[in-house]
Amino acid sequence: MSTLKFAVLAGDYIGPEVMTEALRVLEHVAKQDGFSLEYQKADVGGAGIDNHGKALPDSTLALCEKSDAILFGSVGGPKWEKLPPAEQPERAALLPLRKHFTLFANIRPGLLYPELTDASPLKTERIPNGIDIVCIRELTGGLYFGKPKQTTTLPDGDVQAIDTMVYRKSEIERILATAVTTARARKNKLCSVDKANVLETSVLWRKTVVDYIAKNAPDIELSHMYVDNAAMQLARDPNQFDVFVTENMFGDILSDEMAVICGSLGMLSSASLGAGKNSLGLPFGLYEPAGGTAPDIAGKGVANPCAQVLSGALMLRYSFGLEKSAARIEAAVRKAVTSGTRTGDIAFGRPSVGTKAMADAIIAAL
Ligand code: NAD
Repeated sequence: MSTLKFAVLAGDYIGPEVMTEALRVLEHVAKQDGFSLEYQKADVGGAGIDNHGKALPDSTLALCEKSDAILFGSVGGPKWEKLPPAEQPERAALLPLRKHFTLFANIRPGLLYPELTDASPLKTERIPNGIDIVCIRELTGGLYFGKPKQTTTLPDGDVQAIDTMVYRKSEIERILATAVTTARARKNKLCSVDKANVLETSVLWRKTVVDYIAKNAPDIELSHMYVDNAAMQLARDPNQFDVFVTENMFGDILSDEMAVICGSLGMLSSASLGAGKNSLGLPFGLYEPAGGTAPDIAGKGVANPCAQVLSGALMLRYSFGLEKSAARIEAAVRKAVTSGTRTGDIAFGRPSVGTKAMADAIIAAL
């Protein structure tokens, strides 16, 4: 029987609430499918600051290093809002984790079940069968990490800030490899999003995409779109995309747009895969919900645990190679949220049945 070794970093506010339920679902699947879980919990974010003096404590990082994957909750909230920006839980925990493990590939499914189309701000006639697309975002390059990154006072007294957008061909090629694998597992369709009419990095991006696909994946139906048009097309007809791949900042913005058209933050999961392999020879990854710590509903037992549960499913798929178990969890979540009277509330991130009862419904559907 295989044993899955992963780190559990639940984080703050609703983080631990939804994590408890996700672990309960994973334990259930493990028992049914004949594997066992060997996870350890550690503080991160605000909990790291409170208990260890920093958002990413050394002991937490050490635990992640000896694990095969990280199941992450979410971090931050009003309690730590007054800290200087560089010490804020999100910036001081998530960005260093991404950097440390070179988590360069963010895979974010944009999924809205046909039964829940009412939850989307888009008109139902635009998405009669719901939404089923995937955003692949480059996560460790571009504007967020490029140097120089600084604010200076100029000789004339004016103040100037600089961010730098940098991409190497090799960084573009490695995110393309993830995009191609994802596209091949679906409809063999890939749209590359850039701003090649204005940005040098995008010119390199587009040329690299064209060359890479011609050489390595001629079976892929490739298209290109400028990012401003992509933002518009997502709101007009999201399912035209199937899989789209883009650089860090464009992906940040488009994936949030994708989250809103899919109706509920409480339903969307993500995987951030690293350059390194885990002890099983599979990608090391960090798996987390798309939403944040939802301080407004923390402690009330109403947070939707689905995004965290689905993040667990992605972890089984990518870092442990357990495709069947992952697909079973995804089917159970779908069955649970689309049955009975609770669906409308779930869709708006307010499950009337509560966090625990929602997980019970998922377990019952397994
Ligand atoms: P949020 O995603 O926490 O909440 C936005 C809205 O969505 C809220 O009304 C919330 O109640 C609801 N919501 C989110 N997840 C839900 C769930 N699982 N079930 C039901 N409703 C849910 O965004 P915010 O309010 O802007 O941020 C709150 C805190 O979370 C901030 O400190 C922010 O920095 C942090 N944050 C962390 C991450 C992360 O850890 N990756 C991501 C985003 C925001």
